[in-house]
Amino acid sequence: MMLTTRLASLKLLTFAVFAAIAALASADALAQQRPAKRNFDAEIQAALEGAKSAAGFEFLGTLARNCLLPQSGGEDSRNDVPEYVKDPAKAPPRESWYAEPAKVFDNFYFVGGKIHSSWALTTKDGILLLDTIYPYNSEELILGGMKKLGLDPKDIKYVLISHAHNDHIGGAEMLQNRFHPRIVMGGPDWDMVEKFPNRYKTMAPKRDIVATDGMKITLGESTVTMWFTPGHTPGTISYTFTVLDRGKPVNVAYSGGTAFNFVNNTPDPGIANFQIYIDSQRHLAEKAKATGATVLLSNHSEFDNAYNKNRMLAGRGSGPHPYDIGAEWVQRYFKVTEGCARAAQLKLEQKVAETAMP
Ligand SMILES: [Zn+2]
Repeated sequence: MMLTTRLASLKLLTFAVFAAIAALASADALAQQRPAKRNFDAEIQAALEGAKSAAGFEFLGTLARNCLLPQSGGEDSRNDVPEYVKDPAKAPPRESWYAEPAKVFDNFYFVGGKIHSSWALTTKDGILLLDTIYPYNSEELILGGMKKLGLDPKDIKYVLISHAHNDHIGGAEMLQNRFHPRIVMGGPDWDMVEKFPNRYKTMAPKRDIVATDGMKITLGESTVTMWFTPGHTPGTISYTFTVLDRGKPVNVAYSGGTAFNFVNNTPDPGIANFQIYIDSQRHLAEKAKATGATVLLSNHSEFDNAYNKNRMLAGRGSGPHPYDIGAEWVQRYFKVTEGCARAAQLKLEQKVAETAMP
């Protein structure tokens, strides 16, 4: 009797232990099936911190634009003639945009303004011009600037347009009509120009060369390689090329579009749009690394400090070139743009997760 009872209680104990183990195991399996609750706020904070520490003092403008300032939210689908085209008196006052032109490298010149940039790469067979600013100031800044620097606008053989926004395509029609250079731009941006004739009034060049990823434009001894970096616009093109600093080759990465100028305030299509932008940042970062780029250029002084650096150049003496920041800093630019984009993308992912919760 005693033995039977003891045996029974042992059986019961064994059963209880097994049941407990089974319960634990199934709870564990359940936990594994259910995704762990993500801490979006922490992930967003980490992306922002990454961008902030990458920016240092070099890319504060890029950090401010992409991580801190409110974003435009959407794509511009208007087809209105800009006020400054309808009435040139409505153009911003000259003192708000005028800047002196500058010789930046042996064969590379700044012919932009305080806010927007235009650049001339000179070769023995003519000039490649990068970006053309606004219709109201391209004549004075680009043509006037070139003349001041001893360059002849008749030598412009190629005009490369990073993307079809009025602050970069503004002078293209005028240059095409007067000097007949070849115009190079991304396919989707050529489409945009044709789709919105009013928006591009006085600015739209006739369709010419369609830039594609890896395409090379060679003039004389210089080659500019195009990189398809959609995001800022659907056809944004960035460049890599080499310039000479007192005879020494220096490699440049030129970022064609920086701000989040796409639909970015709703998860669909914001999340996918941010991914296109992020992939483009990685693509150009990789090409910058592969070509040994130590200079990061942009079409806005806000992002590369061109306007300030041109003034530093005057006092350079035998010191380092203010634009030549080194390969590591060039990579840090892309950490800023990617980090800010990831933070904004995470905010949209968080929105989706919160609405999906019961
Ligand atoms: Zn733009």
